[in-house]
Amino acid sequence: MRFSSRMSGVRRSYIREILKVTQNPEVISFAGGLPSPDHFPAQAFAKAASEVLTDCGPQALQYSITEGHPPLREFISRRYKETWGLDIPMEQILITTGSQQGLDLMAKVMLDVGDEVLIERPGYLGAIQAFSLMGAQFLTADLVPGGVNLDQLAQRLRERPKIFYAVPSFQNPSGATYDADTRREVARLIEESDTILLEDNPYGELRFKGEDVPPIRAFMGSDKAALMGSFSKIASPGMRIGWIAAGPDLFHALVTAKQASDLHTSIFAQRVLHRFLETNDLDAHIAVIRKAYGERRDLMVEVIKREFPAEVRCTEPEGGMFLWGELPKGVSAEEVFAKAIERKVAFVPGLPFYVDGTDNAFRLNFSNSTPERIEEGITRLGACLKEVLARHASTASGCQCDAGAPLEI
Ligand code: PMP
Repeated sequence: MRFSSRMSGVRRSYIREILKVTQNPEVISFAGGLPSPDHFPAQAFAKAASEVLTDCGPQALQYSITEGHPPLREFISRRYKETWGLDIPMEQILITTGSQQGLDLMAKVMLDVGDEVLIERPGYLGAIQAFSLMGAQFLTADLVPGGVNLDQLAQRLRERPKIFYAVPSFQNPSGATYDADTRREVARLIEESDTILLEDNPYGELRFKGEDVPPIRAFMGSDKAALMGSFSKIASPGMRIGWIAAGPDLFHALVTAKQASDLHTSIFAQRVLHRFLETNDLDAHIAVIRKAYGERRDLMVEVIKREFPAEVRCTEPEGGMFLWGELPKGVSAEEVFAKAIERKVAFVPGLPFYVDGTDNAFRLNFSNSTPERIEEGITRLGACLKEVLARHASTASGCQCDAGAPLEI
């Protein structure tokens, strides 16, 4: 095939490849970034779908406008106001086919081949893939306790990357969250720079410990910041509905790119989702998800403390769906993965979340496993880790950390 040059060097999603292995029901998988289907409001969606078809008839099945279903855009605008006092008029909200499309559109409208994008280290691999397709070069700023390394961020911004892409709440893959001071400082640094902030916030509402913090966008104007959100983790990922909020110039560019991409996000899905939101209590629904994920996270942390060797350090996230582990330097997560598959347990090795080849880390998803499978799967994984570390005994004993100390990023 005479593929375009932009396809060379872009890997297929590693996770989607791993998901093939995990189709086997005997495999306990902590790999996929899947929300728990126990909390998909299937009955409520059935009712909403039926009402939409009865009330709107064929109109619900017609082509529609690119910007998105106005009442849904209004709902999102109102929610920003009610939750954070944040003024984002509906005219600045573009409905996208999942927030993943927001990443694709941003890459298309902002990047020429060779342009630089600043990302967190580790960073969300779906963003790495979307930016790579447009020929991006990457700069990175490390995640540290409290958020991102601000000195590094300031230094990298001096290199004038086009975009700083950040997931400041319960980041995928690390579970890390920026505190309010860090957010304020990031906003200030961006305002002073030539770089646009692309803030991706699909997990922000899934906090089960600590205090909620506003998006970075709350500390700055709309000129230098685009803010993405998604219904995937709070209602249903299969509906494929997200959004990107941006100031007028960027908004119009994004609309043009979206016209070429898919004309508009499914109007039927938008109407059904909006009917669901109008006739159900979203906050009550999110409270149920938060509670369930909090319990699963607590159990996973507890079993990790009991079963993992002390040299393996893991984050203890306050929300979201993931925790992140680091192996002693020199021990590859891919080696652990091969062992784990033999024992029918899966996770995602860290390699695809780095643009520099780092491979001694891994991601565990806790939202999509029952307590029994968490208990069993983490115990199996603990045995694999002990086996692999025993083989690397000399390296493993070089760990400088306190035994059992959490990894704070
Ligand atoms: N951004 C981040 C950080 C994610 O973790 C995900 C989902 N894995 C997405 C964007 C895409 O989500 P969706 O397209 O379902 O809104």
